[in-house]
Amino acid sequence: MKDDKKDEKLMRVVEEKISICTACPLSQTRTNVVPGEGNIHSPVIFVGEGPGEDEDLSGRPFVGKAGQLFDKILESAGFVRKTLYITNIVKCRPPQNRVPSSEEILSCSHFLMAQIAIINPQIIVPLGATALNFFMSGSITESRGKFFEWKGNIRIFPMFHPSYLLRNQSKESGSPKALTWDDIRILKKAYDEIMTQGT
Ligand code: URA
Repeated sequence: MKDDKKDEKLMRVVEEKISICTACPLSQTRTNVVPGEGNIHSPVIFVGEGPGEDEDLSGRPFVGKAGQLFDKILESAGFVRKTLYITNIVKCRPPQNRVPSSEEILSCSHFLMAQIAIINPQIIVPLGATALNFFMSGSITESRGKFFEWKGNIRIFPMFHPSYLLRNQSKESGSPKALTWDDIRILKKAYDEIMTQGT
């Protein structure tokens, strides 16, 4: 039996630890930490790369241009954002939105692992190559839209990063955008199956 109140308290503790973290150089240039947000009881969590400028300013994940597209992708399949949990591999903005270094990823990884342990999701959705390669090796183009097993009881369902879709606007059949609109429907079907099993 899961203790919801205890999980919420634990997540607050993780967020507090993130807020005072100075373990890597990203802490020196951040405005705000961006721990993640949403429903800690969601069976599906989304993991991006790292906060951008809007996220650094607001302290919330996926609120800038990429976030607005992400919201549209979610809505297209009938997901309600606040019922999901959304976070990033690194919790502080890399300057100029560069890819976080492997040292930065490593020094932040215990926060993400703690969040995953608290939420205990059934599906993790890495958005883009950096997030994908935290969980498994492989190319995002080849692995997106497929389920992979991770640590026994969690499935990984990689999807393209919304920023990549902003740079690739074609909606033609087979384009990254068209594929993403297919992927989110596959994910929603899996989510609905999990939700009906639980009732
Ligand atoms: N890109 C990410 O990877 N994460 C965010 O929160 C925003 C943009």
